[in-house]
Amino acid sequence: MAILAFFFVHWQLSVLFQSFFQHRYVAHRQFTMSRRWERFFHICTYVTQGASYLQPAAYAVMHRMHHAYSDSAQDPHSPHFYPHAGSMMWTTKDRYLDLVAGREQPEARFAGGAPDWLSLEWFANTWFSRLAWVAVYVAIYVQFATSPWLFALLPFHFVMGPVHGAIVNWCGHKYGYRNFDSADKSTNALVFDFLTAGELFQNNHHAFAMSPNFGVKWYEIDPTYWFMRALRAVGIITFKASPAMRVTPLAAPAEVAPAPVEATLV
Ligand SMILES: [Zn+2]
Ligand SMILES: [Zn+2]
Repeated sequence: MAILAFFFVHWQLSVLFQSFFQHRYVAHRQFTMSRRWERFFHICTYVTQGASYLQPAAYAVMHRMHHAYSDSAQDPHSPHFYPHAGSMMWTTKDRYLDLVAGREQPEARFAGGAPDWLSLEWFANTWFSRLAWVAVYVAIYVQFATSPWLFALLPFHFVMGPVHGAIVNWCGHKYGYRNFDSADKSTNALVFDFLTAGELFQNNHHAFAMSPNFGVKWYEIDPTYWFMRALRAVGIITFKASPAMRVTPLAAPAEVAPAPVEATLV
């Protein structure tokens, strides 16, 4: 029971901070917060992602490319150009590592705007850090696993970030329904995204990339948005765009033109 609880909590917190910090804050700059809070949430992101921590700047570059070139041959991870999610994520991993190492220079419009805490990023990217987190996960399983079968879950902790990425990037552009007739192949895969903290509302998100709420219909529940609303209520973050103005056009979704991608990126 303790192991299943640990798995659940690690899964949820890892994807919550990926959605909140790397995606909505760094890649899209959907909201602002003080430098002190930025550092606090950067630490939260590092701790919850642990062995599979993603450098925010490289994540942001790849994600902005994904929006600009969505489901075309230049999209870094469109499922429509790969036979399965494994090959898509392997290519994505190589591209990410090239960006982190400086072997690939991104277009200028995709770069910049990332938090600068180079010492944390450097340490989090070391093998020492990643293997230390692996050791923590193994120790927890050794201490609390009540059945050998539970160890089948252990490898997921090592690659939690890529697992979430595979689910979102594959399913969110392949399976589900569409509210908006956008030029890409994005879909909404769930009406309550309990798996990836709202990231599976890809069709809504591609239509309104600056909206902090990825759910647009009343029954579409985006957990990260509610987390952000709580932070806004106590004055920690400030939204740049109003979620309300994103919800009202839904009476006639076909008439709503998606916002230009360039306008959503900074
Ligand atoms: Zn997408
Ligand atoms: Zn996005």
